Amino acid sequence: MSIRLNTFLLQNDIRIRTNPCVSPDFCLDWPALRALLASKGTNLKIWEASRFTTAHGEWTLVEDSASGDHAWRLEASAPAVSALADGVASGAHTAFFPASWANLLALKNHILAHDPAATIFPSAGGNLGRGTLGVGARFTTLHWPAVEWAMCALGLGLTANQNSIPRELVYDVDAMLDGKLDTVPFPFIGANVPEGHQGQSVEGMSHGCVLSKLKNGFHHRRIAWSFNADHQPIGGKFDVREDALVRGCLLASYITFDLSPELAAGTRARLADIDDALVAKVRARVAAAGLTLDETAFTALLESVWPSMAKMKRRDEKYAAARAAAFSAPEGRAYLRELSIDELPGLTTPETTAVMLALCEALGMKIHFVAPAFGFQKNMPYPDNVALRALIEKQWAVCRAFEVGIGFHSGSGKSAENYQVMGAVTGSRLEIKTSGRYTYEMGRALFASRDAGDQALWRDWYRFTVELALAGAFAADATERKMARSFILDALAKSGAPAVEAAVFADAASARAAIEALPASPEHMFWFEYNFLYVLAADGRAEKSALGDHTADGYRQRARFYAISEEGRLGFAKNIAAYLLFLAENTGLAPAARVAEARAKLESTPTLAAFHAAIGG
Ligand SMILES: [Zn+2]
Repeated sequence: MSIRLNTFLLQNDIRIRTNPCVSPDFCLDWPALRALLASKGTNLKIWEASRFTTAHGEWTLVEDSASGDHAWRLEASAPAVSALADGVASGAHTAFFPASWANLLALKNHILAHDPAATIFPSAGGNLGRGTLGVGARFTTLHWPAVEWAMCALGLGLTANQNSIPRELVYDVDAMLDGKLDTVPFPFIGANVPEGHQGQSVEGMSHGCVLSKLKNGFHHRRIAWSFNADHQPIGGKFDVREDALVRGCLLASYITFDLSPELAAGTRARLADIDDALVAKVRARVAAAGLTLDETAFTALLESVWPSMAKMKRRDEKYAAARAAAFSAPEGRAYLRELSIDELPGLTTPETTAVMLALCEALGMKIHFVAPAFGFQKNMPYPDNVALRALIEKQWAVCRAFEVGIGFHSGSGKSAENYQVMGAVTGSRLEIKTSGRYTYEMGRALFASRDAGDQALWRDWYRFTVELALAGAFAADATERKMARSFILDALAKSGAPAVEAAVFADAASARAAIEALPASPEHMFWFEYNFLYVLAADGRAEKSALGDHTADGYRQRARFYAISEEGRLGFAKNIAAYLLFLAENTGLAPAARVAEARAKLESTPTLAAFHAAIGG
């Protein structure tokens, strides 16, 4: 158990029910839960649909609904209290175990030893390595049921858990407690924000997404799903903590390698130092893929990418070794790989994609998706479908030759036609990565909710973005000021109040008057751009120093989201599911008739309970 972190959480009354996935463990206080189990307390919730079998007997997930602490219940004629750690017997035929991180890992082995095709844990199975949607899970337990619902309704496995680590998730809870998290520059805010800005830890999120698959019986559907450790940074300043990154991402069944830290560091190799046979292999493979590279360009590219490729290979060996050490079944060790190159400056040329893929092949790294840069802006449709088709066709010619799918990063908020082009050109051999979209969907759900608490949260959230936008519009930093002003002007223009920049920003009072004349709406660009920072802002304060706060102040703020009403939760879940249906239909990942059926079912789902019930089937 993460004793140090759990002690901190308990001392500050930060409990799993209202602050899930912070601790790697899903039980913070085992002595208390053990006592509750012994006394059969009324708060105990038995998740009946979670039932599954291993050689040890029948397992069920149990929860203290007051605290959110979880335990595993094992039923057998003579249950082994040594099946997992810290077990206690309860009568002749039952044993209980805390839902600790270590027990989760052990359980994965028990489950796969008994049933290698089990889909309780994320895997690399099914169609996941060929075509999928990457679904960033910003609100964890509020979010996963929606993805489970969509997977069931479509009969389609998805990348059902995804976030960038360490950017969005806390990569190491001890580093967090020690105040040693690094910061991420956000030029449009004119500030650095501590990484892990959503508050959950990578292990806590890995744990939560598995428990979620059990609670409503998703695992009975036997649909393989994956967990993508997104944008794993290679090289540069991340060298020193690569072992911690590998450790934290142990349950990820899909790794995205992001070479940009090493490339940004500007290291270069000399052609003479790279193995001749490997270079020859790459040259031949690129030629076989139908590309001609002049020798100078080829050498320059190789020399610039080789240090990062070598580091990626080393990192990959570490991911594989960690899985081999922790998991016994081959199914439990397998993982998918994506090569992200969209962070490189400019549009990716087909030649670059080909050289990178040929290098991976020569290094013995099977790549499932590659993410070239297409010039996408987050949450903006690509303006020209003809040009988009031409760009993708060029990349697809290379990808097809290497039997690799295309990963579309910054993939949310594109038009239906954009997605149709992506699906048509690649034959749906693609992945659309979406993440920020779901914070927006939370805002829409709160905005639409009739619950007074949801409305209060929405108003405070909106106010937070108004204040950040106004402060940014008059900031000393030029980028921050320019971006803030463009967000405000966009909101004014789209609200039918086209404004003259000079007049709006004549002074702070005129800017405030203009923005306050707008009706509050989750459609305003300034709300969209700043919204994710509210989740962990200390006391919800719209100040740079309050952002990404990993103390009790930040987590109290985060708890507000987990206290929303059933109406808010249902609205959020439906919004996510509807968006996934939209993506699956337009990319061709699911047949239109099936999507139409799912959409009708979604629209007629009356309650959160009915939504959850549909997951189990
Ligand atoms: Zn990327």
